[in-house]
Amino acid sequence: MLKGKIALVTGSTSGIGLGIACRLAAQGAHVVLNGFGDAEGPKAEVAAAGKAHGVRVGYHGADMSKPAEIEAMMAYAAKEFGGVDILVNNAGIQHVANVEDFPIEKWDAIIAINLSSAFHAMRLAIPAMRKKNWGRIINIASAHGLVASAQKSAYVAAKHGIVGLTKASALELATTGVTVNAICPGWVLTPLVQKQVDARAAKDGVDNEEAKRRLLAEKQPSLQFTTPEELGELAVFLCSAAANNVKGQAWAVDGGWTAQ
Ligand code: NAD
Repeated sequence: MLKGKIALVTGSTSGIGLGIACRLAAQGAHVVLNGFGDAEGPKAEVAAAGKAHGVRVGYHGADMSKPAEIEAMMAYAAKEFGGVDILVNNAGIQHVANVEDFPIEKWDAIIAINLSSAFHAMRLAIPAMRKKNWGRIINIASAHGLVASAQKSAYVAAKHGIVGLTKASALELATTGVTVNAICPGWVLTPLVQKQVDARAAKDGVDNEEAKRRLLAEKQPSLQFTTPEELGELAVFLCSAAANNVKGQAWAVDGGWTAQ
């Protein structure tokens, strides 16, 4: 379905980004990965997912908190792959503290990585998408783009911000073939959430399984984690022709979290 398209997924060496990259490759999209840590394992995983279509997989290690590095990543995608048709803004970090205790550098990093990086990648990707009159921008927000939790002020502010960015840019592009939408996952068991499970286990003096159950029970009525693969399939749908007229939405995949 996505044969010949070029997808760039930020923060895709792990977790949700890697899951989305694999599903896009399985539909035939060439993929540019980004993120910290080992890139060879994720590259091999995505290449295997797209093997039937002979997809190409590239990697650029831009630090998404740095606009100049984002520009270099977009230039790499243009030079090596011919541009970006599908942009998935996924890179993100978390820090948990009350507002009055929130370290200033953590606040700045979360706003830069979880929000401003999407603006920079979008402003660089949109001109070519407009020219082609086709493009897909998928911003990975969160249930925290729709509702709040205590001690997550920077994350909640950034995720509400990215939902706003999604809506405003979708309106600017409404008469074109470029769509912009957000996906709002609830709990997904990735390294980012495992840290919160570990903190819960330590705080409550319980084991890993019980800490996971407690975390889910607090917010997510299904009591099930959403998986990166499920989010990847939603991304594939948003890239399909069936989603041509889906614009500016914040699509929750949260086991009922925001229905409460
Ligand atoms: P993760 O920690 O598994 O992956 C985060 C990815 O971002 C990694 O590849 C990491 O290397 C990359 N990254 C971090 N800082 C970066 C930087 N400065 N520059 C480039 N790459 C950077 O986390 P995840 O759970 O897969 O989270 C992915 C996205 O999904 C985030 O935006 C997160 O807020 C969002 N999200 C996660 C959950 C969840 O429950 N896990 C729920 C809702 C939303």
